[in-house]
Amino acid sequence: MKQTLLGQVAVVTGSSRGIGRAIAQRLAREGAVVVVNYRQSQEAAKVVVDTIRGQGGQAEAVSFDVSDAQAVNHAIRDIFNRHGRLDILVNNAGGTLDQLLLRLREDEWERVLRVNLTGTFLCTKAALRWMLRAHYGRIVNISSVASHLGNVGQTAYAAAKAGIEGLTRSLAREVATRNITVNVVAPGFIATDMLEQLPDVLKQAYLQLIPMGRWGKPEEVAEVVVFLVQPAAAYVTGQVIGVNGGLYM
Ligand code: NAP
Repeated sequence: MKQTLLGQVAVVTGSSRGIGRAIAQRLAREGAVVVVNYRQSQEAAKVVVDTIRGQGGQAEAVSFDVSDAQAVNHAIRDIFNRHGRLDILVNNAGGTLDQLLLRLREDEWERVLRVNLTGTFLCTKAALRWMLRAHYGRIVNISSVASHLGNVGQTAYAAAKAGIEGLTRSLAREVATRNITVNVVAPGFIATDMLEQLPDVLKQAYLQLIPMGRWGKPEEVAEVVVFLVQPAAAYVTGQVIGVNGGLYM
């Protein structure tokens, strides 16, 4: 079958595990050279790279913390210099720190916003420089159904993810004439390490709310991301696409 992203370079933040890993593997199957970013799980990132290479794809692992502006700028510049292009950025790295608002400390609030929202801003800004020059780019930001439904204990997380959606719509307008699209994929409950952190009783309660009656798979999120980064998806921008089994309509 024809590979639709042959020769393109894609950076997927936080792709050593979970949803990011599935996105990286799926982009590689379409022929993209994939940069597997992680912060600390070096071994896991190496396994992702080895798996992609084992299937005939191209990938490399690059560690940087998305919330560290200097590290992001250095890494993205280096990626561009080595490959001579940067076509796709998937801002997937993120994390939760669940706490009721009254108990949520300011440093915890800052930490959640820093990784999810500021990280998206920093990586986007660094990559956009090269995309603007090329008059081409595909940016997909990963938010969450939590930003639409709200979730007890997730005021910071939901605020950060809602922020990502506002950023996306505004940036989509800024760069639309340059053939750069900016979209959001908002997963529902997806079976990853993040879901594992939830207490069983909460998981059972959430499962009851999902019309499809099951958790999503990382591969099901990856499929939507791959659609959005296709050259053919050129007229889709500023959109938020849910992948949630009907949890939020
Ligand atoms: P996960 O399994 O916990 O994996 C998180 C990934 O992000 C890891 O590769 C981790 O690498 C990386 N990461 C975390 N902080 C980072 C940082 N500061 N800099 C660079 N990399 C960092 O998470 P997931 O469930 O796949 O979630 C992926 C995305 O989907 C997140 O944005 C999350 O908010 C969103 N989401 C998930 C769900 C769900 O149900 N799973 C639902 C809605 C939205 P290290 O291990 O090296 O830190």
